[in-house]
Amino acid sequence: MTETSNAGQLETLLSAQVGGPMSSAGGAVAPILEKALTGGEVSVEEGARLFDASGAELGPLLATADRLRGEVVGEAVTYVVNRNINFTNVCVQHCGFCAFSRGHVADEGYYLPVEEVLRRAREAAELGATEVCVQAGLAPGMEGWHYVELCRAIKEALPGMHIHGFSPEEVKYGSRLAGVSFAEYLAALQEAGLGTLPGTAAEVLLQPVRDLISPGRITVEEWVQVIKAAHGLGIRSSSTMMYGHVESSRDKAEHLALLRRIQQETGGFTEFVPLGFIWEEAPMARKRTPEGLRHGPSGIETLKMYAVSRIMLHGWIPNIQVSWVKEGPKLAQVGLLAGANDLGGTLINESISTAAGAQHGQLQTPASLRALAREMGRTPVERGTTYEHLRSFADPAEDPLDPLDQVEDTTQFGSYHDLIKQSEHRFKAHYKKGAHSG
Ligand code: SF4
Repeated sequence: MTETSNAGQLETLLSAQVGGPMSSAGGAVAPILEKALTGGEVSVEEGARLFDASGAELGPLLATADRLRGEVVGEAVTYVVNRNINFTNVCVQHCGFCAFSRGHVADEGYYLPVEEVLRRAREAAELGATEVCVQAGLAPGMEGWHYVELCRAIKEALPGMHIHGFSPEEVKYGSRLAGVSFAEYLAALQEAGLGTLPGTAAEVLLQPVRDLISPGRITVEEWVQVIKAAHGLGIRSSSTMMYGHVESSRDKAEHLALLRRIQQETGGFTEFVPLGFIWEEAPMARKRTPEGLRHGPSGIETLKMYAVSRIMLHGWIPNIQVSWVKEGPKLAQVGLLAGANDLGGTLINESISTAAGAQHGQLQTPASLRALAREMGRTPVERGTTYEHLRSFADPAEDPLDPLDQVEDTTQFGSYHDLIKQSEHRFKAHYKKGAHSG
């Protein structure tokens, strides 16, 4: 084969993607992709069809998402330097997918008192973190305003630290214990220094799906109420979906359409974070229920999720985050070709996915996140929680050596597996004292 004929085939391949007509290569999804590229809103039916894309449809699907990503956020790949503080794993709920939680008499139940939360937050600040992400189990016997007091204590100790904390499920729990409305509780959190809310506890926002995988959990209606109340107060939030278990393509498309409707009303979402179900240690996987339970998304299902979410949320939610925690850095990096533009956080103490059997460690250094972005020919940018650009790293020669990049032994931060085994911070001991506010 000559050089000319090679070049001809390459041209044909590229023009069959987004640069030119894609009716042949895109197959049945081509009209949907054309609609997205020309600013049309992709419907639930169309989104479901995109989730079912296969074969020759895949290239154009991913290329369309990548094109839209470039239009909205350009070539920057963002990340945030943050630390997770999951201050207890003891929980009154029993979600079928959750391997993190323990009952209140379990030996592995832990509870970090306020001073330990503050120690971790101060250490995070010394390591260059701009955010602490505070989420935990729903501890029985907790004092209703504990989340508010935790915020206040962190903010008093570290006024410049952004607190990204408390899922809608925790807002519901705290407000119920305190005897106030969602809005009143959120206002108290805000007054105490809460910056943004994680849009977790969403899983799939369809009640029949939730009833299968996490009966008794916050309802779709309540989740939407909490999020809208937060946005109404000016507390922005992320948005998430946990997928790869029992949901259908249509369920995923409906979830995205609901997030889009909320965003059209409030504008409060900063990002969308698809989270692949980690099944290895999940209670429902061990029990083999519900029927039809899948063992997390496949590689291409993960890429399709990034692509379809980029396409369906186009014009409304500008940032799509890959999860190195769930997918591992390798697949997360490839997700940057499928519509995603954000690598999430350094985390420092990843616990929840680790408990569920994820094998990707508890932290990524800023240098490793920058390397992932650069290998894709993109520019790494450190961002704040609400996506303000803090530092752009166009030239690798000028990269700083951040404190977190100099850490040689990451075990110094304490792993989740250490935390559930060590004698310090046992929930049982704390619970006997009958106080969960300190
Ligand atoms: S997902 Fe959250 S609410 Fe459900 S059991 Fe786990 S810690 Fe508790």
